[in-house]
Amino acid sequence: MLRALLLAPPGAGKGTQGQRLAEIYGVPHLATGDLLRQHVAGATPLGVEAKGYMDRGELVPDRLVIELILARLTGDEPLRGFVLDGFPRTLNQARDSRSWGRARRTTFQAVISLAVEEDELVRRLLERGRRSGRTDDNEVTIRNRLRVYDESTRPLLDFYRGRGILVEIDGTGAVEEVTARIRAALDHILGLPIEGTISRFVQANPKGPGQGDVPGLLRRVAETLAGLGPVEVTGLTLENQPTEDGPWYSVSVYFHPGDAGDGRSRGRTTRGPLPSSS
Ligand code: AMP
Repeated sequence: MLRALLLAPPGAGKGTQGQRLAEIYGVPHLATGDLLRQHVAGATPLGVEAKGYMDRGELVPDRLVIELILARLTGDEPLRGFVLDGFPRTLNQARDSRSWGRARRTTFQAVISLAVEEDELVRRLLERGRRSGRTDDNEVTIRNRLRVYDESTRPLLDFYRGRGILVEIDGTGAVEEVTARIRAALDHILGLPIEGTISRFVQANPKGPGQGDVPGLLRRVAETLAGLGPVEVTGLTLENQPTEDGPWYSVSVYFHPGDAGDGRSRGRTTRGPLPSSS
């Protein structure tokens, strides 16, 4: 069962990747930022105390966050697996969670860092602020959060590197590509069959939505599956994603190798421009 932590600056994709990984590995996604925002929305004593720090882009005091996350991990049913997102964020929190995990034999198996250039982080956060209205996604607070990350959280990279569990991933590119990179690393650590990704992407479509080579994309999915030999297809998902070059979609096919029969599913992903709804 996966016990992993995402360690990355704001805007690097922790939330998005955390949700996807939790779903893939069948464990809960625990994001301290989300938990704190729930407390702020509910105006609980913790939320009232945390709000000022969050609005300024500062870290909420360790004691509040540690209490919050440990309550969630121990809860009524202690969690054996999880993807943590946004915790620990200070050396103090890291040391606390380490001694907590060691006492329960549930230390992290992997700490995933996502590397993204600062300009790109600011661009993504401003964009998210425009779309979601998150109050701390404004330029002044963003700069402060990045500074706080450098000062308080970045030292954790060395902390986990020293323990041999840091996995450094390039966080740029399409969401699916980043997920695939993380999966390849995690599957290796967990001893699962390593998944390859197909990188024959259709180029962004200059003519706009609806003009893409959708039959070609589906043909490639079929050809890829055929090229894998005997497989049992267990699922198929279609997702779409807006990009600067127009909407794209992603087809993921989940399957068991026909001859392995070990019940593990693997996926292959291929993408193309979004077909028009007409
Ligand atoms: P996030 O959604 O992860 O960007 O977190 C939003 C805000 O919540 C941060 O800017 C901090 O103010 C606060 N926060 C989240 N996680 C922590 C943590 N582990 N320690 C301290 N403050 C946190």
